[in-house]
Amino acid sequence: MKARNRLRAPRISVDKDRCELFGTCMWEAPRLFTLEKDGRLRYRRQLAETDYAEAAAAARSCPMQAIVLRGMTDE
Ligand code: SF4
Repeated sequence: MKARNRLRAPRISVDKDRCELFGTCMWEAPRLFTLEKDGRLRYRRQLAETDYAEAAAAARSCPMQAIVLRGMTDE
């Protein structure tokens, strides 16, 4: 049951094959995404309800459609 709840927890994933490190997500959701000086994109994987709007804005803004959001709505 615990594992099942973890799977359903709202979360972000980024498709590294698609991500071109434009950083638009960071501008839309600076609390969730950071483009590091070493060129890596870091992001918070688990979302709280207060993060939903920012996460959705970041996903919409990504020119590569690399951001996938799961568990934010009833599925
Ligand atoms: S906006 Fe999309 S392509 Fe750009 S860094 Fe973020 S996830 Fe990668």
